[in-house]
Amino acid sequence: MKKQNVYAAIIGGGASGMMCAIRAAERHPDQKIVILEKADRVGKKLLVTGNGRCNLSHIGANADSYHGEGSGELINILFEKYSADVVLRFFRTLGLLTHTDSEDRVYPLSNQASSVLDVLRRRMAQLHIEETCNADIQSIQKTAEGYEIAAADIRIYTKKLIIAAGGKADYAGRESGSRELLRSLGLSMSRLSPSLSPVAVKNDLLRSLKGVRADARVSLVRNGRTIKTERGEVQFAENALSGICVFNLSREANLGGCEICVDLLPDFTAEQVLREIAARIQSDPDAPAGELFIGMFHKNLGLALLKASGIRPSTLCKNISEKEIKSLCRHITDWRFVCEESRDFKKAQVTAGGVRLNEIDPHTFESKRHKGLYIIGEALDIDGDCGGYNLQFAFASGMCAGDSL
Ligand SMILES: Cc1cc2nc3c(=O)[nH]c(=O)nc-3n(C[C@H](O)[C@H](O)[C@H](O)COP(=O)(O)OP(=O)(O)OC[C@H]3O[C@@H](n4cnc5c(N)ncnc54)[C@H](O)[C@@H]3O)c2cc1C
Repeated sequence: MKKQNVYAAIIGGGASGMMCAIRAAERHPDQKIVILEKADRVGKKLLVTGNGRCNLSHIGANADSYHGEGSGELINILFEKYSADVVLRFFRTLGLLTHTDSEDRVYPLSNQASSVLDVLRRRMAQLHIEETCNADIQSIQKTAEGYEIAAADIRIYTKKLIIAAGGKADYAGRESGSRELLRSLGLSMSRLSPSLSPVAVKNDLLRSLKGVRADARVSLVRNGRTIKTERGEVQFAENALSGICVFNLSREANLGGCEICVDLLPDFTAEQVLREIAARIQSDPDAPAGELFIGMFHKNLGLALLKASGIRPSTLCKNISEKEIKSLCRHITDWRFVCEESRDFKKAQVTAGGVRLNEIDPHTFESKRHKGLYIIGEALDIDGDCGGYNLQFAFASGMCAGDSL
């Protein structure tokens, strides 16, 4: 059994945990700081972020792109001191060069997520931060002095305990049990649900659309009210809609009881769409309906639109009724897909929900209930949109807590 007294112990060697360890060790170079990581290496999830390129931050990130009760106030306080600029300047001191794309998303110049992990690990080694891997922490006990942390063959004693154990889904899509640790400390938590994921929808036509992509505007509609609208590339899958614009609706959509409305011609008004269809019919009335969308949509998408409107592809254009034309136009501009409730965290990039934000001091991330306990990153009830916001929060909260230790 390994027993150790340390200045600070960090549970979780992900983005927030590594950053927290570095900042704490820079302030306390003579103190022992240990990261306890259940996987065989730290930072494994970082390697798969941004499709292997790691979208590590977002220029100008602000409260508008974060969700969770009280997230606006927390982000305003945090980013006043630890904005995207500050996080990126710190990465620059670690030797990381970055580039920013046209949508303000920041990537390492190398376009390799491993560059981000490498600079963090090099700095951790320079600062003699101990990485204890294969340490799946099972329990935390409060002691008179601080905390006792236990894994199968490890006991760590510390006055400063940082929980950076992430959300419910880990890098390999496996479910993490870290919320049991948080509950055991009596911390109040909101319900966990998957976010930034494909959205499971019901529609028999999807089978024929598998793999089709289309530029569209997508809106989430609940009880007849549009809650959120996004523009981008929709990817059709067998039982789901996907793509970044859909990911950004998934937080709400995964709760079920709503619809995603797809507008396949977002730059056209409904009237213009009607005119376009009428002109196509008029220009070649003896052509089969199956040819109506040539040059307009992916072939399978055109056929699915006809089917959704009850028109056979062999029907001659001149025989398409007024009612059918209206139905076609409606499906083009307002195609409705009923969202199914989803509790599947395996395809989600982030967990919505977690330790309630009123449990922590927003200036330090220290628990209001337990002195010396800090909670950072995705373990908290805060999640961001797609585009580097989640890593920006993980790094910024890690910096803030590390500086406060
Ligand atoms: C496929 C994918 C792509 C993504 N791409 C991006 C992107 O490009 N940009 C972006 O901003 N965000 C992205 N995200 C989200 C982002 O990765 C997370 O929000 C971020 O990593 C959260 O950081 P964290 O430190 O809080 O948690 P994590 O990075 O999840 O780290 C938590 C660590 O704690 C460990 N752990 C958990 N429980 C225990 C325990 N009991 N004992 C010991 N260790 C434990 C885990 O193994 C893990 O290493 C992506 C997520 C996924 C899944």
